[in-house]
Amino acid sequence: MTELTTVNPATDKPIAEYPLMDKETAFEKIESAHAAFLDWREKTHAERAPYLNAIAKALRENVDDLAQLMTQETGKLLRDGKGEVELCAQIFEYTATQGPDLLADEERTHSGGKKRGIVAHCPIGVIYSIQPWNFPVYQPVRVLAANLMAGNAVVLKHAEICTGTGLMLKEICAKAGLPDGLFEVIIIDHDTSDEVIAHDLVRGVTMTGSDGAGRKIGQTAAKHLKKSVLELGSNDAYLVLEDADVELAVKTCVQGRLYNNGQTCVSAKRFVVTDAVYDAFVDAFVAQMKTIRMGDPTSDDTQLGPLSSEEQFATIKEQVEKSVAKGATLLCGGDPDDRTGQYYPATVLADCQPGSPAYDDEIFGPVAAIIKAKDDADAMRIANDSRYGLGGGIFTKDEDKALKLARDHFDTGMVRLNSFGTADPNMPFGGVKDSGFGREHGGFGMKEFVNAKAIYLP
Ligand code: NAD
Repeated sequence: MTELTTVNPATDKPIAEYPLMDKETAFEKIESAHAAFLDWREKTHAERAPYLNAIAKALRENVDDLAQLMTQETGKLLRDGKGEVELCAQIFEYTATQGPDLLADEERTHSGGKKRGIVAHCPIGVIYSIQPWNFPVYQPVRVLAANLMAGNAVVLKHAEICTGTGLMLKEICAKAGLPDGLFEVIIIDHDTSDEVIAHDLVRGVTMTGSDGAGRKIGQTAAKHLKKSVLELGSNDAYLVLEDADVELAVKTCVQGRLYNNGQTCVSAKRFVVTDAVYDAFVDAFVAQMKTIRMGDPTSDDTQLGPLSSEEQFATIKEQVEKSVAKGATLLCGGDPDDRTGQYYPATVLADCQPGSPAYDDEIFGPVAAIIKAKDDADAMRIANDSRYGLGGGIFTKDEDKALKLARDHFDTGMVRLNSFGTADPNMPFGGVKDSGFGREHGGFGMKEFVNAKAIYLP
């Protein structure tokens, strides 16, 4: 393959063609990023902050263009794209405000407290960022903001289907005054990506995507002794406990499953419902899922847009069919019509069994997997019966009980009580088990690719 074509999943019409870069061109970008890093690292954290604030401002000024392009490339609802751009602006501002304190030198002592020591958080160089298409601006931004503040340069390889958005982001950063080279975009295939990871000037690798790709990229990074952060997929469980407010749970779970057309790593995907509230929850949940208006992602009325690509559509269709063959009961949806575009309806599967995709794997689309639990303890057991561990949710009126479950039992990186949401600049984001390792946001992301250097003063 020498070029790639982006396609609008709402119309199946091509948008643009991009030539793939060869290895030499990709290496030139790495070298240019390294050269920019050599200047950038001389600046203090406080001197870097205004550049980040300028990007935040430029993102807000370009919100309409960015949102439109994201919708064209991925089928994301236009209003969700606008919200995504605002979150990105907030991430840059948060990083500009908090970074200087978080990354400041720490004074310590050594030699039994008699002498002074300093811990400095030093940048390490070029960070290679491999990102998915589901949040075409947010995904690259969460890595970019943190690493610019830390003093690193970033080379982005975006998902093919949102190549245009990656390039637009780079242009916006450049217009906002970010020095040349500090943020480069490369358009390459996966073989060339392995060579990029191996390049001596690449000092860290951060990847967000599926666990399969993460395993491969993580192995390549390990082979070359490069530190990696892997933010991978999940099959997050939302528990509806015996004392849950069922109305709130239903409303929130519908939103949590369908947000971003069901293509969010921390979507509510499995709904583990206790026997005591099972019928009430399932009846109301299915009734709401049946009312969902699917259609044009640019229209204000639309609640569910198309999946991002033909490939995603085929995957979801197959996962639902396999789950039904393995014993799941189809309560609604699962019957895409033959309209143009990659439209898959809001779907509910109940009685999902271990050994089926709905129970074991991530379904990255508007498909809810319901599992009945005997009681609260059984619900917690089922939630943790997963190879993934990104997020999860608990619906209960008893906050103490929920806190204990969240802190002591839920084997995930994030847990939400009686609510759904995606990311917050001030809270750490990341997973355990096959959902990967490392953290974005909350101050943790800025320290992933720094050298915590111990300086011993006499
Ligand atoms: P994907 O794994 O197919 O691709 C992600 C990125 O990795 C793309 O840029 C892709 O080109 C690249 N890639 C894949 N294989 C590669 C290889 N061998 N070498 C180099 N690059 C390679 O995932 P996707 O379909 O784009 O995204 C959906 C997945 O991302 C879901 O599993 C979702 O849960 C996950 N995700 C996780 C988070 C998180 O923070 N944990 C956030 C968003 C999405």
